[in-house]
Amino acid sequence: MNPMGDDARYEDCGALFRPPWDDVACVVTAEDGSWGFGMSSHAGPSVPLINDYLGPMIVGLDTSDVEHAWDVMAKGGGSHLGLSGVLSYAISAVDLALWDLLGKQESVPVYELLGGPSRSALDCYATGSDIGAYVDAGFGAVKLPCPWGSDVEAASTLNVDRFTNARRMVGLDVPIRVDGWAIQSASDAIALGELLAPHGVDWIEDYVFPEDWAAYAEVRRALPNVRLASGERWYGVAPFRLAIEQGYVDIVQPDALWVGGVTPTRRIAALAQSSGIELALHCAGNDPYGQHLGVALAANTVSEMYYGGPIPEDLMATFRPLPGMGPVVDGTIVPSDAPGFGIDLKLSDIERATV
Ligand SMILES: [Mg+2]
Repeated sequence: MNPMGDDARYEDCGALFRPPWDDVACVVTAEDGSWGFGMSSHAGPSVPLINDYLGPMIVGLDTSDVEHAWDVMAKGGGSHLGLSGVLSYAISAVDLALWDLLGKQESVPVYELLGGPSRSALDCYATGSDIGAYVDAGFGAVKLPCPWGSDVEAASTLNVDRFTNARRMVGLDVPIRVDGWAIQSASDAIALGELLAPHGVDWIEDYVFPEDWAAYAEVRRALPNVRLASGERWYGVAPFRLAIEQGYVDIVQPDALWVGGVTPTRRIAALAQSSGIELALHCAGNDPYGQHLGVALAANTVSEMYYGGPIPEDLMATFRPLPGMGPVVDGTIVPSDAPGFGIDLKLSDIERATV
């Protein structure tokens, strides 16, 4: 099933229907020649947004003015293009590069810039289908993709079967979460929650379309006792503020590479913490950016390591690999303590990979 699964032309294209673009990398350079490296998704529209629009907005700022740079990009760009979606991917790459640059200039890891580590390591849960292997590898919790939605009867059977099989495999002590991949209607999500609650689902995530606030409200009303999580496809701070204020979710899941970078993630973390809402950074274990935020932000009580399927032997074969990222050991990750995000790349490597 996929978001267009009720259109016969797209029936067989799998659970994800991704745009055709590679990831985008952004290098920011200071007058002293030092530089920072940021990444995000969707290079097609992000590259011209960065080079032609966001870059000129912030050229000449002091390299320590990272928060101000974000405000300039978000307010300037967002007031014309809207902050939700493509612009946010482009801003994310720039903001992450600016934080990397500042860490390098100060010769400290970014988690020190963010106030120092709140924990010695990221305690990760693993997402994907090979949950027995995840538990064997030391992960203390797992998450199952359950991306079936529009055929309620089939979806119910598939999702509940998948969940109960997982429960049998890992036992009662391992929390199991499910991710609906944002393709269900409110009524499907409510049905899913009612079916899985008796089996002890730990949380249900991304159960409706990302900006359908009426659907979030409807699901919350119908499932007051099921933990609800969302946020990997919310952009900037405002959607998080709305969801937290309205009590739509119990756990918020910003993705630093998509939400706008470190700067808004920090603001969202403060909102969550002061509101008694859990923060669970999306794919925090999969890249150096999430790893540094994950250990620094006190609110980030759990972090995700996304595999999808079996655990690859090489960390660089996982989702969003970057040289220098911390390895996974018994389900935990210690980020690199090298300056910036500790990304082990030379400018010549990046220039060779640039098209
Ligand atoms: Mg998810």
